[in-house]
Amino acid sequence: MAKATRQHGFAYFGVADHSKSAHYAGGLSVEQIVEQHREADLLNKRFGNDFRILKGIESDIPADGSLDYPDEVLDRFDFIVASIHGRFKLDRKTQTDRLLRAICNPHTTIIGHMTGRQLQRRPGYEIDVEKVLRACAKHNVAVEINAHPWRLDLGWRWHQAALDLGCMMSINPDAHSIRELDHMHWGVKMARKGGVPAERGTERDDAS
Ligand SMILES: [Zn+2]
Repeated sequence: MAKATRQHGFAYFGVADHSKSAHYAGGLSVEQIVEQHREADLLNKRFGNDFRILKGIESDIPADGSLDYPDEVLDRFDFIVASIHGRFKLDRKTQTDRLLRAICNPHTTIIGHMTGRQLQRRPGYEIDVEKVLRACAKHNVAVEINAHPWRLDLGWRWHQAALDLGCMMSINPDAHSIRELDHMHWGVKMARKGGVPAERGTERDDAS
C-alpha cells in the first residue's frame, strides 16, 4: 500500500486501519498495532527523506464519546481519525455530544465522515453540524473530506461554514485497497466545489 501510494506521487501515506471494536472490518488488536508500527519503522528507514508512512488508526467512537483504545496505546500513533460506525439512531443532542467529547480528546486529529451519510443508501445521523465544526476549530481537529464516492462526507455545502469557523480540512480516500487510492480525486474535486483553498486542506492518504 505504501509503495503504491508513493507511486501515485504522494509524499506520505497515513495508514489508518479500523480499531479493535470493528472486528467485522479487521480492526487491529494491540499486538497487531505493535507489528504494524515495527514494519512502518522499517519501511520508513528504507524510504529515506522523500516519503514517509504516518502511523494512524481510525478509532471508533462508542456511544459515550470515548475512543477505542486506552491512552497509552493512543499515544503511539502519529494521528488518530475518530469516527462513528454504529448507534446511528441516537437523538440529535446525544449524537452531537458524542462527537464533541471525541473532539475534546487530545488524541483526536481528524473527525472522519462526520455525518455518516452514504449516498443512495442512508441519510446521515442527526447532529448539530455547526456546533461540531465550531468544536473542531477550537480544538484544532481537522474535518475529514471523505473522498469515497459513497460518502463524500463532509459534503461541499458545509465547506464554507467550516472555513468561516476556522477549520482545517483533511481529504482522505478511505481506501480499503490500492485501487481505491484513486478515490482521492473525488475529494479534491468536492473540496474545490466547496471553495476550500489549498492552504486549508491536507491530502492525507489514509487507508481505513
Ligand atoms: Zn470509517
